[in-house]
Amino acid sequence: MNKPCIFCEIAAGRMNAEIVHEDEHVVAFRDIHPQAPMHVLIIPRKHISSMLEIAPEDAELLGHMHLTARKLARDLGIAEGGYRSIFNCGTDAGQTVWHIHLHLMGGRSMGWPPWPGN
Ligand code: 5GP
Ligand code: ZN
Repeated sequence: MNKPCIFCEIAAGRMNAEIVHEDEHVVAFRDIHPQAPMHVLIIPRKHISSMLEIAPEDAELLGHMHLTARKLARDLGIAEGGYRSIFNCGTDAGQTVWHIHLHLMGGRSMGWPPWPGN
């Protein structure tokens, strides 16, 4: 049997996470290894393994993920200072969990371009 997807398990409530928002389509929770003072992951309830696999019918869902990032940036106090929202796609980009997730990070200044350490 294939190993269950950890983010599907979190979305279904079968695995613990510090959830900061959930609705019919998405769940947002704190990253277990935060890379900034505020670091949450916004995931769709629908399992999509990578941004290479998104389809035209996912457009509204992806828009909803970005609107959720904007809402959480305000609710969690990083809207004014600025924040980064990122999808890592594939190995070179650093993707390690194969269920798409929008990283929302803020609370410190971040370097650009994102060379190692940034
Ligand atoms: P990626 O490297 O795929 O873009 O991001 C995966 C993120 O998921 C990492 O920042 C990692 O710390 C986080 N992560 C991995 N496993 C878990 C987990 O079980 N719970 C939580 N809350 N975050 C996780
Ligand atoms: Zn999944």
